[in-house]
Amino acid sequence: MQVDMGEPMTPQDRLTDEQGRLATLHRYDILDTPAEGAFDKITEMVRSVVGVPISAVSLIDRERQWFKSIAGLDAAQTPRSVAFCDHTIRQAEPLVVADAQTDARFVDNPLVTGDPGIRSYAGVPLRTPDGYQIGSLCAIDTKARDFSPEQLAVLSGLAPIVVEQMELRLLAERDTLSGALTRRAFIAEVDKQIALFLRHQRPSALLLLDIDHFKAINDSHGHGAGDEVIAAVADLCRGLSRPSDSLGRLGGEEFGLLLPETSEADALAAAQRFCDTLARHIVPHDPPLTVTASFGVAAVGRNRLTSASWIAAADAALYAAKRGGRNRVMLAPQDALRAA
Ligand code: GH3
Ligand code: MG
Ligand code: MG
Repeated sequence: MQVDMGEPMTPQDRLTDEQGRLATLHRYDILDTPAEGAFDKITEMVRSVVGVPISAVSLIDRERQWFKSIAGLDAAQTPRSVAFCDHTIRQAEPLVVADAQTDARFVDNPLVTGDPGIRSYAGVPLRTPDGYQIGSLCAIDTKARDFSPEQLAVLSGLAPIVVEQMELRLLAERDTLSGALTRRAFIAEVDKQIALFLRHQRPSALLLLDIDHFKAINDSHGHGAGDEVIAAVADLCRGLSRPSDSLGRLGGEEFGLLLPETSEADALAAAQRFCDTLARHIVPHDPPLTVTASFGVAAVGRNRLTSASWIAAADAALYAAKRGGRNRVMLAPQDALRAA
């Protein structure tokens, strides 16, 4: 029988292999993760060296563009359909738009006709070592302009550094701001506890906590104060937990605590202690800051045999704690059926 080995994939094939591209992007496990200084330094550098008000590291997910870093604009994501960067990833060369108002592809784009009023754009694809273009490093201006060869060379030189940084962060176990495990490393610990439960019926519990009204702290005291609060909450959690417990930073101001060998009742009591202690804690700052958090608790159990379903159970309880008025703990009922 003859086996069809298939033709090797050409770079052109990679540009149109959307499933392969998405799989590669998702392998980096970077979507919806907190800001990281390395990426923010690059977009700030683009702003000052290229002389634009806005620069972003944009990653093109199935239906959205999500910004790992965006300097000069307050946005986390946009629909993919309006993303300039979605055009960039479809070609091997940088995309330069000198005047969006005279470009048929962009003239009706809501980011051009409305906020932030994009007029010009230069984007360089972020190409992974296996040849997929998962996003772009871009420079955006609100006036029509050209980009010099030197300015494009800066973008083209920084884009591979963005990809290298994405590779490096996969090796990192800990988040630099809080010292907590990265989401990826934390989920690996959650998986280990599930395996112990399956093999030896060992109990364990998961706490999720999300700081209450955190946006107000950033808004009134600045992003730096917000960062100090995040670090202080992580310190407090570590101080209150056992050495065998794991603390992970799962999102901007959301943490997970994994308590091995802990019953549901003990985990609930621990969460209540964390919640009360945090509410009384004063974060050293000028002026001193106080914060509260909401907690969701879920013990491992037969409906929670994947990290996704276990975390979803704790997250539903956390959501209930928020709805119930915040600064409180809610337990996820063991037998509740819920969509993961
Ligand atoms: P809720 O009580 O419902 O949780 O309200 P909230 O304001 O805490 O929730 P929301 O999710 O609306 O806001 C979270 C904010 O956290 C938005 C984002 O700008 C900010 N944030 C995310 N990551 C970081 C970070 O690393 N540092 C700082 N300073 N802020 C961050
Ligand atoms: Mg919050
Ligand atoms: Mg949150």
